Amino acid sequence: MTKYSIFSLIRNALSYHENWQKAWRSPDPKPAYDVVIVGGGGHGLATAYYLAKECGITNVAVIEKGWLGGGNTGRNTTIVRSNYLWDESAALYDHAIKLWETMSQDLNYNVMFSQRGLLHLAHNVHDMQEIGRRGHAIKLNGIDSEFLSPAQVKEMVPIINLNCRYPVMGALLQRRGGTARHDAVAWGYARACDAMGVDIIQNCAVTGFEIEDGTVKAVETTRGRIGAGKVGVVTAGHSSVMAEMAGFRMPLESFPLQAFVSEPLKPVIDCVIMSNAIHAYISQSDKGELVIGGSGDPYISYSQRGSFDQVEHVAGPVLELYPVFSRVRMMRQWGGITDVTVDRSPILTKTPVGNMYFNCGWGTGGFKATPGSGHVFAHSIAKGEMHPIAAPFSMDRFNTGALIDEAAAAAVAH
Ligand SMILES: Cc1cc2nc3c(=O)[nH]c(=O)nc-3n(C[C@H](O)[C@H](O)[C@H](O)COP(=O)(O)OP(=O)(O)OC[C@H]3O[C@@H](n4cnc5c(N)ncnc54)[C@H](O)[C@@H]3O)c2cc1C
Repeated sequence: MTKYSIFSLIRNALSYHENWQKAWRSPDPKPAYDVVIVGGGGHGLATAYYLAKECGITNVAVIEKGWLGGGNTGRNTTIVRSNYLWDESAALYDHAIKLWETMSQDLNYNVMFSQRGLLHLAHNVHDMQEIGRRGHAIKLNGIDSEFLSPAQVKEMVPIINLNCRYPVMGALLQRRGGTARHDAVAWGYARACDAMGVDIIQNCAVTGFEIEDGTVKAVETTRGRIGAGKVGVVTAGHSSVMAEMAGFRMPLESFPLQAFVSEPLKPVIDCVIMSNAIHAYISQSDKGELVIGGSGDPYISYSQRGSFDQVEHVAGPVLELYPVFSRVRMMRQWGGITDVTVDRSPILTKTPVGNMYFNCGWGTGGFKATPGSGHVFAHSIAKGEMHPIAAPFSMDRFNTGALIDEAAAAAVAH
């Protein structure tokens, strides 16, 4: 694999950039693999990466029904943070942030991880109590968290209108939070996986599982049967569909979540600002577009489109907080299918089927966890036992009642 560097850039410039090696191959599927990962989003690719890199398992295929990152990985608003309430979540999401911090170097691929800081605004007494409780819990877990006064918020975000319909009363700041370039994450992992011998098979949908004596033996696909020693299912919005194929139920509901971006502007916001009470969040991409989102659609669906009512529902609150954007034009709008659990925490689990593992339920907020999730999931598949960080997120918790309720921290979608 060509190492990306200033030298390879210069060398390729000399041949008019016509001879760059393909970032990954497009192999035909082999008859069987030690591990088959279903779903070529960030989490699936990260799992394959750590299986190959840290667990020594390179006979791995990632099977993707469309194109890499065409699911939620390429549709999200790229917020990365680890300021969750419970110890279990803090361990998982902060594990991810630590891996984000070295990801570009590890993958030799610039994922543009930018720790520009993330603000959660508080607009009422309940919000203040929520950020107070969560902020202290986060600090007790050794994760950075600061309380800001309205004046400090104004200093950080000069264009904000603090005295809007729901005045800003304070904020919780995580300076290590920020954004990353979402599709670069999929491409970076794919390239690194391919270099270690992992087969990435796109345009190949899994249509069923071959299960013998309660243990998975193969996946049925649109390109035929592929034998599998172990199977990891990482299909986000389609996880309950996959579980049904395997003969059990996954406690998930699938809701569309929408986002939109504006025309590019000169730099005007240099952090991420989320507001739970008014249900909108905003950041500015490195291209200059305002990246805007709100809460999920209020109905279950597999649609991946935007809708007019959501623009109205989210643009109103955004203009309350930032009247300066009243004449900005919106450029693109889209949706993704999020797989939501009742406690708003993910599911990393063994299943009733032997050698079959599921990684799902990230709902509206799994992008931030991509490297951490892949890392602990790979180790769980390799050892056949859930990694200690992943263990509390097993699907058994919906029977035992040991839920990890992150509804408030998940809040306005992420
Ligand atoms: C609009 C929006 C904004 C968001 N914003 C944020 C944010 O700011 N921060 C954050 O942390 N999270 C955010 N999220 C959530 C985040 O995008 C997801 O939690 C995360 O990307 C899930 O990654 P994944 O790899 O599990 O899923 P995906 O990227 O969806 O990958 C799953 C893959 O499985 C494939 N697949 C499905 N069925 C099959 C099959 N039968 N056979 C083969 N392949 C199959 C799909 O094609 C897909 O590519 C957002 C989501 C949306 C929709």
